[in-house]
Amino acid sequence: MKLRYDLHSHSDCSDGTLSPEQLVERAKLQQVDVLALTDHDTIAGVTRAQQAAASAGLTLIPASEISAKWNKKDIHIIALAIDIENQLLQEGLQRHQQKRETRAEAMGDRLAELGIKGAYAGAKKICGKALLTRPHFAKFLIEQGHVSSFNDAFKRYLAAGKPGYVVTPWASMEEVVRWIRAAGGQAVLAHPTCYKLTSSQLRHLLRDFKEVGGVGLEVVTSYHNADETQRMATLAASMQLFASVGSDFHGIAEKRIELGQLRPLPGNCKPIWQLW
Ligand code: MN
Ligand code: MN
Ligand code: MN
Repeated sequence: MKLRYDLHSHSDCSDGTLSPEQLVERAKLQQVDVLALTDHDTIAGVTRAQQAAASAGLTLIPASEISAKWNKKDIHIIALAIDIENQLLQEGLQRHQQKRETRAEAMGDRLAELGIKGAYAGAKKICGKALLTRPHFAKFLIEQGHVSSFNDAFKRYLAAGKPGYVVTPWASMEEVVRWIRAAGGQAVLAHPTCYKLTSSQLRHLLRDFKEVGGVGLEVVTSYHNADETQRMATLAASMQLFASVGSDFHGIAEKRIELGQLRPLPGNCKPIWQLW
């Protein structure tokens, strides 16, 4: 039997809208057999998702999507099949959570200077116990009528280089991969076409990534059309990287991305789950 994999998804422990339990329920509904919960810089939802998966009869892969710096650029690294008890990983994620908090406060200050009061408190209220992320600020800006949409919020205030944006000193790619390896997991470069890199820059990134111990590339994602999927498959094969598959689901009706509804992995790829 061919299993359906989705190795990139978010719960309300970061910027998703479903609880870990609801996410697993949704995955079941979408006939996903193997799901990775990859909340941004946190593993807070993993145990709950694992428990829900055990009763729903699907496999939950403990994971996280970790921010990192490469050549001053922010990249996202999917940490798959990690031991969530690993201390080096836990400490690294805690440092990133602290950086997110500091960034959020600074973003609140920036927005206040632009005449938008109470953004930090407002975003914090929306996010509740979750990790405070830019989408929470976007929701605040929409609610307060400063912008008309999510895209508008990012385009005018929150995207890199915009007036509400604050650079975050994430750990280097090398360091993040070290945490993942210490925790026995695989490091996979997420959504490779989303970094605005030329193909030679992307190769450069992947060469560096491999050198520090990265092993995988997200070949199939909701962001890739058939052509990009094929290009990334060829790239992964030529660089001897394993291929991963993930929707980057954040919730129903969010970005119109659904769990498990992905193109098949092209035949020239070695799936990352061969390593499990
Ligand atoms: Mn996200
Ligand atoms: Mn990402
Ligand atoms: Mn993601």
